[in-house]
Amino acid sequence: MTDALSRLDLLDLDADLSDENRLLRDTVRKFADDRLRPHIRDWFEDGSLPARDLALEFGALGVLGMHLTGYGCAGASATQYGIACTEIEAVDSGLRSLVSVQGSLAMFAIHAFGSEEHKQRWLPEMAKGSALGCFGLTEADSGSDPGSMRTRATRDGTDWVLHGAKMWITNGSIADVAVVWARTPDGIRGFLVEKGTPGFTAQDVHHKLSLRASVTSSLSLDEVRVPASAELPMARGLRGPLSCLNEARYGIVWGVTGAARDALASTIDYATTRTQFGRPIAGFQLTQRKLAEAAVALNPARLTAQRLGELWRRSTPMRAPTRCTPSSSVKNSRASTRSADQRATGTVTIFSN
Ligand SMILES: Cc1cc2nc3c(=O)[nH]c(=O)nc-3n(C[C@H](O)[C@H](O)[C@H](O)COP(=O)(O)OP(=O)(O)OC[C@H]3O[C@@H](n4cnc5c(N)ncnc54)[C@H](O)[C@@H]3O)c2cc1C
Repeated sequence: MTDALSRLDLLDLDADLSDENRLLRDTVRKFADDRLRPHIRDWFEDGSLPARDLALEFGALGVLGMHLTGYGCAGASATQYGIACTEIEAVDSGLRSLVSVQGSLAMFAIHAFGSEEHKQRWLPEMAKGSALGCFGLTEADSGSDPGSMRTRATRDGTDWVLHGAKMWITNGSIADVAVVWARTPDGIRGFLVEKGTPGFTAQDVHHKLSLRASVTSSLSLDEVRVPASAELPMARGLRGPLSCLNEARYGIVWGVTGAARDALASTIDYATTRTQFGRPIAGFQLTQRKLAEAAVALNPARLTAQRLGELWRRSTPMRAPTRCTPSSSVKNSRASTRSADQRATGTVTIFSN
């Protein structure tokens, strides 16, 4: 398979990988092929995922919060984090989602905005995968526009009391700790709400059309009382949650190149073995054109991801590149995702017109 994948690397971008990064790619790819790929059809079909078991395995692999430093995190480069996301999403986007929600949303929020006590309490366990986190920003009526959120936190003595509901929260029902964003009289603030806190419940969303191999939940906060120490002290306003989303989007930019690559490899495999009119359908020029366009479209996506990794490395302090080149990076991320989407669309038409 590695040879088949190498042939899709038309610009020989893998040649630029350091020995260390090549080893990481091969290690994560082997884990993905041996441990994830054999089960993904069932997980997707059943709409379920043994997320807690997998989290322990991802933790042992060293990919949870791998781009963060200290507190048991690997301190890997942005490019290494991207490579891991690519190889995991080559199997399924829901699996990459498990890794990036844990590392880029929940762990990053605690790492960037939490108190020293929060970091010591949660990050080492989350890096190991023995504790899971979720990130509660979206609400039923507040998706792209999180500034319109209705979940509120009010002071009662030294406590905070949270009331509201969150929707589409990855790992919500299985998380040990939820990063919950809520409106206060002083603006949006983040809070750590532990599983089992009275008034805090989660319910899974079933019958999803996509991202089925991923736990997605709604969170209900019914007058949930947490101590003042549950507030993330460094998060002020929407900038807090939005910077977490930037971290996650960076991993997604890389991840989609894995999904696109795998879709193309599967399509080539099918097109070269499916025979119609006396020859493999890959023998027809119309099919070849679709495959060629898909293969060519993969490269801008991968180049964009690699460039963002380089920009991230150069930024000081080392953080998601949207901070150093805001508009261009976001546009590139979208272009990268779109190009991978288009490529996948082309391959779908080969499987079935
Ligand atoms: C499987 C899954 C897992 C998720 N996990 C999490 C999670 O862990 N934590 C969390 O907080 N959220 C999570 N989300 C929520 C996700 O972030 C939201 O779905 C997303 O923010 C979009 O919100 P929405 O679905 O309400 O769409 P809407 O905001 O209603 O948007 C609908 C459409 O309108 C478009 N649109 C909206 N505003 C504009 C505009 N200004 N200009 C042009 N087009 C616009 C959007 O692009 C979209 O196509 C998850 C969602 C899914 C499906």
